[in-house]
Amino acid sequence: MVKVGIIRCAQTEDYCPGTTDFLMIKNKQGAFEGVEEDIDIIGFINCGGCPGKKVILRVRELVKRGADTIAFASCITKGNPIGYACPFSKKMQDLVKKEFGDGIRYMDYTH
Ligand code: SF4
Repeated sequence: MVKVGIIRCAQTEDYCPGTTDFLMIKNKQGAFEGVEEDIDIIGFINCGGCPGKKVILRVRELVKRGADTIAFASCITKGNPIGYACPFSKKMQDLVKKEFGDGIRYMDYTH
């Protein structure tokens, strides 16, 4: 069982309720293609707003609730759906990886 927590962009919520992310997980497509185990969604939460300093707190709650995989949604890393990627994406991912280490699997997009 893969237990995924998704971090999304707070600025993008008005454009997107996350439908494609949930479909990707359900159909094992996009970043989830090739995952053979069942996928459990632990949480779907935004970064906390620009400039992303709350991301550690947000990920901590996901991990506390059992997430073993953290996915940064495509709104962050690819800029979906308006083609405006997060300017703080790399910094956020680096901070999260430094804080939570190798025990967590990281995905840098969802679809
Ligand atoms: S820090 Fe990045 S991911 Fe978070 S709200 Fe701002 S643009 Fe979106």
